[in-house]
This record gives sequence, C-alpha cells and structure tokens, in this order.
Amino acid sequence: MLEQKFQVLIRRYPIKRSALVPMALYAQDVFGYVSEDLISEIANRLDLSPLHVNETLAYYSMIRRKPVGKYHVQVCTNVSCMLCGGNEVYDFVQKKLEIGNKQVTADGLFSLEEVECIGACTGAPAMQVNYDFYENLTERRTDDLLDALDMGSRPATSMPTSGSVHARHSAEAPVISRLFGVPDSHKLDVYLQHDGYKGLERALKQLTSDQVIEEVKKSNLRGCGGAGFPTGAKWGFVPKESAKPKYILCNADESEPGTCKDRPLMEMVPHQLIEGVVIAGRAVGAHRGYIYIRGEYRYVLEIVDAAIEEAYAHGYLGQNIMGSGFDFDLATHTGAGAYECGEESALMESLEGKRGYPRIRPPFPAVVGLYGSPTVINNVETLSAVPSILHRGGEWYSGLGSPKNGGTRLFCISGHVNRPGIYELPMGFNLRRMIEEVAGGIRGGRRLKAVIPGGSSCPLLKAEEIDLPMDFDSLAKAGSMLGSGGLVVIDEGTCMVDLARRIMHFYAHESCGWCIPCREGTDWLRKMLDRFHSGGGRREDIALIGELSKNMLGRTFCPLGDAAALPTMSIVKKWPDEFEKHLAGMCPYQPAEMLTATRA
Ligand code: SF4
Repeated sequence: MLEQKFQVLIRRYPIKRSALVPMALYAQDVFGYVSEDLISEIANRLDLSPLHVNETLAYYSMIRRKPVGKYHVQVCTNVSCMLCGGNEVYDFVQKKLEIGNKQVTADGLFSLEEVECIGACTGAPAMQVNYDFYENLTERRTDDLLDALDMGSRPATSMPTSGSVHARHSAEAPVISRLFGVPDSHKLDVYLQHDGYKGLERALKQLTSDQVIEEVKKSNLRGCGGAGFPTGAKWGFVPKESAKPKYILCNADESEPGTCKDRPLMEMVPHQLIEGVVIAGRAVGAHRGYIYIRGEYRYVLEIVDAAIEEAYAHGYLGQNIMGSGFDFDLATHTGAGAYECGEESALMESLEGKRGYPRIRPPFPAVVGLYGSPTVINNVETLSAVPSILHRGGEWYSGLGSPKNGGTRLFCISGHVNRPGIYELPMGFNLRRMIEEVAGGIRGGRRLKAVIPGGSSCPLLKAEEIDLPMDFDSLAKAGSMLGSGGLVVIDEGTCMVDLARRIMHFYAHESCGWCIPCREGTDWLRKMLDRFHSGGGRREDIALIGELSKNMLGRTFCPLGDAAALPTMSIVKKWPDEFEKHLAGMCPYQPAEMLTATRA
C-alpha cells in the first residue's frame, strides 16, 4: 500500500523531489515515525542522498524521528486556546497520563505534546489526538476522552460540520459559506444544485482570459491570506507568453494563530475551491495547480482529494473541461508543520521538496515562481470567492463590501466571547458590532480590554479603538491590519505581559533562523518577556523590549520578523502600566504560587 502511495505521489510532480515531505508523512502515518531505513528508502526513490533527506525533514515539526504513543495527544496552548483554558487542559493531561512534554506512557498507549496553533481557534481550547480534532475542552471532557481512548473506543471528533466551530448570525452575508451546514455540501451533486461550476462555465465559454481578470478586478477582491493585495492585479502580472508552464498554487497552509477558516471551506465546499483554482488557471493561461494543505489537516486532505477525483470524473478537471478545449490538472500537496511555509516563496520552496526558506525577491512569483515558472499564489478564501464573482459579476461582489474592499470575509472570532465562531460578514462591518452583537459580547459579563483584529501578527487595539469598519484600509488607518480575519477578543482579566510572552514564544518557535534579526530578536524577546512575567523584569527592560522589536521591523527576508515585532510593540506602547505593575515582582493577574509554574 505504501509502495502504491509512493508511486502516486512521485507521479504528481514534474520534479521527483517534490514528493519528499508527503512521502515522509505518509510513511510516518503507517509506521508511527520516520526511521533511518525509511529515510534511505525515500532517498533512494527520489535520487537524493539520505543526508539530504534528513536535513530537509529536520525542518518540519510534524516529522517524528522516534516512536510516539498509539494515541499522540497534542494540546494547543497558543493565544486563543491559552485565553480559554488551554494551559489548564495541558496540565490536566500531564497529570492524568503522568508524563511530560514529548514523553510516552510506559505502556506505549499515549504520548503528549504541547503544540502551536492547530487551526481550531473558535473551538478553543482544543487538541488533536493523532489527526482527530477535539474542541471546547474542559477537564471533564478531556478526562472522558482519555478514558474512552484507554478503553479502545474513538470518541466523536469535532468538525466544522458538527456546528461546534461555526455559528450563524442574521448579519451574515453568505457567499462562500452559503453551503455551510447543508448536508453533503462537499459532494459534487449538491454543489451543482447550488450554482456550482457556473462561474467556470462563464469563464470558459463566454469570456476571454483578459475579461476574466477584468471581472476579478471589478470585484475589488483582495487577498484574504493577510496581505490584502488586489487579486485581479496579481493575476494581471503573469506574463501572457511563457516558454515555461505556468502554475496556480492555492495556499492552504493556514497557520496564523486566531485563524481557522480554510479548514471548513475545504471540508464543506471543496468544489468551490477547485472551481476557483481552475478559473484562475483560465485567467492566466496555467494548466496545472496544487493545493498546499497544512499537515495537521489530514482528514481535510482526504476530502479535497476525493472532490478532485470527482471533478476529474465529471469533466471539471482534466482535458477539454466542459467541452471548452481548456485543460487543467490539479493535485493536493501536504505540508508537515512549519508556519513559515505560509509565506508564498517559502511555500514554493517547500513544494519543491526543500526546507521552507523564503526566497529573495524580486523576481516575484508571477514571473519566477514554482519550478522557476510564472506562478499565481492565492489563499483558500480568496480562490473560494472567485466562482461567485464570475457567476454573478464583479460589480455585484464589490457592492457587498466597502470602497476598494470588495465583498465579504470569513471572520474567525475567538477568545473571551459568548459565541465564538466563523462568520461571513460584509467587508467594512463594524468591529464593535462584530464583538457585541454577532459574537454575543464578552463572556461572564466582563469588560473588553483588547482585540487582535486579524491574527496574532497584527498590532492590538484597545477597547476604546473598536468603533471602526473591518476592512483593509480602515484597519491600516487605525494602525493595525485586517490580516487573515482572525479576531481574538481579550477581556479585562488577561495579563498583557503574559499575552505578549505567549505570542513571542510562537514566533521564536517558528523562526526559520535564516536572518539574524528574526532568529536572535525573537529568542531574546521571548526570554525577556518570560523573565518579566515571572517577576524578574527591570524598569529599563520595558523600553528595551520595544526597541528590540523595532529593530526587527523591515530588516528580515520575510514578514515573520514584522509579525513578531508589531504585536509586541503595540502591547508595550498601549499597556505600559501592566509592565510597570510586574516590577513589583509578581503578575497582578496570577496568584504568586502559580508564577513559578509559568511554562517556559
Ligand atoms: Fe526566517 Fe525569520 Fe528571516 Fe523569515 S524573518 S526568513 S522566518 S529568520
């Protein structure tokens, strides 16, 4: 079976090496870890040296080089989970299983790992057992879950379709989420009943490729992965003539803490994404695409693979699509745990079977991208919006949003709110209404203290700064970013120093180490914030934390340096009093006895 899978994977790419990470991950699924023998086997098949394979795989945090338990329990303690009790869940699991981080129980049944964001922020606190998601955990639920596993049963998993991570609200304007909650929405016949592939039909049979790009430009669709670059303009940069094949890459490596929308989009409406990818291909004259899915979303990968197969069988992929003479081939690719691979040039490196280090630009991917060819890279949400734009028109879509910020966004609202969830709202929807009305206000009648408006890399807003429209331009004007649309809501009982500490731990963990300001800066800041939070801070450290962060800005190859610096700088600037209070030696938000237990 592994033999067959290896062959399928190798055939998927023009260059064999691209299959390296997927092969290793599939082998790990079968054997539990990647042994030296497997390294040699993979190296042999890909015409690489074992050293090469070893060196590449060492970059990916999901690749394990030693056995784990039958049930590998991975508890998220990143920002949204931390705010909702993730640390307590982790401590509970440690005590119950009597093992520490990365240890295995004596009987080999369980192993435990504290992990970074797993993409279940609106269902926080959450964990994965092997690839299964369990969300909204309490000690009681965790206890029952571990007992059930111990008895040999597999408890029901949390999935977006179960309703646990998606709420509905009357303010919603469903475009890309219109099939959320519809039974069997992942299947082709259901998608076809809801205007599926009509946008593609128009793009192929009624419009020229330039007209397709024009329609997307009219829509004012902007990249939903974080940067907010106009999608139509991005497509327009791809040269019309190219001696090399062109590629469409879908970035489904969603890893920004606070963000968990790609998962339900791929799970519930994979054909919408496939349609968007083919339309992008039609627009720029590309005939091949890949959907790069983060390794943690294993069950989603299987759903998308099944949808791709279905699309091939019914003539929506492959040769002469819908009788138009246009050909397009599409396949999935799996990552293996590296936040950095969400950056577009790092993602291309990773897809080429290398470490996910970013590339120096220019040249930009539109000209020199995957395999040195012209490439369009768009995020899942962006591409999922394209079918409706082509079906109903760019002007219609643009009219749903605010000026220069067309359409709708999926906002993931997590943290201290009564109704966390993923809501599709018009661009420009008021942030205060989003928190108070859509998400039901702050839990436990507490007051709002801060908001991370678009994923953990964004500068934070204070409670008095939330009367603003949620779109790219308004957030930029307010000194923050719309980013990936992952809102994390923080109440008055939260220690902002602890929050800054946790955010920095994440970026220090994810820094690829290539450039010094990021590698050294994130690590120094992590240590300083740890020390500060545990009562060892000095007055001069407050300014130093701000200065060190500022020194990272704009001095790194990729945006991770800025992503680490910006939220930290905003916390130091907006909540200096919280740092001052820690100078007295103890965190004002935590009992003294807990400080010694602050996780490093
Ligand atoms: Fe790597 Fe950080 Fe430099 Fe990006 S900024 S290339 S993550 S070291």
